Amino acid sequence: MGNIETSLNLLLFIGVSGIFLLWVCCDRQDNVRLRLHWKHSAFLCRRCRHIYEAMRPPKSREGVPCPHCGTENTPLHF
Ligand SMILES: [Zn+2]
Repeated sequence: MGNIETSLNLLLFIGVSGIFLLWVCCDRQDNVRLRLHWKHSAFLCRRCRHIYEAMRPPKSREGVPCPHCGTENTPLHF
């Protein structure tokens, strides 16, 4: 009786570990894929003149808030 219970517990443990490992791997791949498409952009705050860098999605027209004062700024174009 104890042997079957131990085997079932072991099987359950392996199954749960497998699912967890798969989930972690998929999550990491999604993050890497997402970051590959994101661009590093430079920003100059129009209020406090602070220069900062941030990641933003491609073709995004939205501004990124300044870490100093919170004003949203559009990326610098060179
Ligand atoms: Zn600012």
